[in-house]
Amino acid sequence: MALILSGQAASRGIGIGRARVLESGGVEIPEYTLDPDQIGSEIDRFRAAVVAARAELTMVADRLGPQVASEVREFIETHLLMLEDDALIESPVEFIRARACNAEWALKQAREQLFAAFEQMQDAYFRSRRDDVDQVVKRIAAALANRPARALFVEEDALDDTVIVADDLEPAELPALAERGLAAFVIETGGPLSHSSILARSLGVPCVVGVRGARQMVHEGQLLIVDGERGFALIDPDGERLTRYRERQHEQKRRAQQLLRLAGAAARTADGESVRIWANAEQLKDLDLALRHGAVGIGLFRTEFLYLHRSEPPGEEEQYQAYAEAVRHMDGHTLTLRTLDIGADKQLALGQDPDEPNPALGLRGIRLSLKFPDLFRTQLRAILRAAVHGQVNMLLPMLGGPEDALRARELVREAAAELRAAGLPFQENVPVGGMIEVPAAAIAAPHMVEILDFVSIGTNDLIQYTLAIDRGNQAVARWYQPLHPAVLRLISAVIDTAQAMGKPVSLCGEMAGDTRYTALLLALGLSDFSLHPRAILELKEALSRLQRKPLLGLKRRILEAATAADVAEVLKQAGV
Ligand code: PEP
Ligand code: MG
Repeated sequence: MALILSGQAASRGIGIGRARVLESGGVEIPEYTLDPDQIGSEIDRFRAAVVAARAELTMVADRLGPQVASEVREFIETHLLMLEDDALIESPVEFIRARACNAEWALKQAREQLFAAFEQMQDAYFRSRRDDVDQVVKRIAAALANRPARALFVEEDALDDTVIVADDLEPAELPALAERGLAAFVIETGGPLSHSSILARSLGVPCVVGVRGARQMVHEGQLLIVDGERGFALIDPDGERLTRYRERQHEQKRRAQQLLRLAGAAARTADGESVRIWANAEQLKDLDLALRHGAVGIGLFRTEFLYLHRSEPPGEEEQYQAYAEAVRHMDGHTLTLRTLDIGADKQLALGQDPDEPNPALGLRGIRLSLKFPDLFRTQLRAILRAAVHGQVNMLLPMLGGPEDALRARELVREAAAELRAAGLPFQENVPVGGMIEVPAAAIAAPHMVEILDFVSIGTNDLIQYTLAIDRGNQAVARWYQPLHPAVLRLISAVIDTAQAMGKPVSLCGEMAGDTRYTALLLALGLSDFSLHPRAILELKEALSRLQRKPLLGLKRRILEAATAADVAEVLKQAGV
């Protein structure tokens, strides 16, 4: 009897493969003292670990293909430099000598000393180095323990039949793993709306999250079936189950193949109403797929992925090049570049407090950009310059109200003035839109819509903040209800307001790509859906089965419902 590990479905599809159980991101550090005659060999052991860590990183750097973002390369180079820094390498040697302590303990003391020094500095840049020190220390500690560093970058092999089982994966770790043909992810923490899950979906890798204790239950090399649709994994399945799942896997591939015929089809309901399908993107690959599957443009390009895995933000030129390349990929279609939305589960040391008690309620999205206007203007200039090459919209995340929008627009004007003064070509009047994902902004919809050129409803966060449910916390996942009438009333009010004021409105949260909600969103009057490109064809198919006009007749009953279950009942009775 196969053991079932249940969690939450995060990225659909079935993955079958052998488990690779990743060590936790944390390091356990043994502490013991040495006899005087052991000191010399302990120092040698430490130095050998540093050499091994360096060799490992050099191999990683050499293996990076040309498609790997330059920030990953820089991140590795920084760490290589640190592995040559006396503060990190010679102090532990001194500790081993002076205190006769083991290498791991000495390393820990050196790290603490460095952290204390960073704390004194107050300078955002140096404080941000803390994370790098920590990661380099972990790498040396892993080498001391004779185990490979957690990031599987170092291995040569493809990961085709491998299921990664981890406590957590940072958004920045996923693409490098997925590139190597991974079968699936099983992650102990997070929820379907956490950014790692969104990324797994965008990479098309089956993923189950919130699987508590997975690393205890699964042994290295065990066969796993991951059902990313229903949210569980089976350990050591019997032959019959395996056959059944392989058939299902086959069936899914066949269906995906079949759906391809809709790539060139118009997005239209059964009663002939046109719907505009936009795509959400995190990387260049998404743009091509989006256009191939018939998206009218990109409704949300999450630029923060350019900022991850590095301790310093990318400069204007680097961003300009990256955005310009994306714009050129669009072949005349609109690209909506969302400004930096770092914070919450996408952490980056940019001067935020690493111990922020409530990151989701903290310095996130536009707040961070407004607090660090130089950082923001750098991105704005890059966007305005890239806009010369095609059709670009700018989208502001996490607006809390009209003041955020007005201040952000002022900074856009300042960025334009700087470019003008520098004589650099840029696009005047790039449309500036705002994400409506904070309940206050939804409630203030008329004022927001007036200030902005377009709005996009971010339901992932709008649900989280309206219902006070952490979108990544498995323990409260059952209260994360997209059908909650309070959420629906906010969505509906934003759609109605924007339409009445003649401004474009789209919805770019995960709801847009989940066909369980297509009828509902049509009923609320939505006409612009923005979703990950892999979901476009299914949405087209779902639309072709629905009649828009009768659905509009359900709107009042939906909005008057008392509970999510009542909403579901209204839809069920209508046969959708
Ligand atoms: C959202 O909140 O719905 C959204 C699209 O933005 P993100 O998921 O990047 O927070
Ligand atoms: Mg959001």
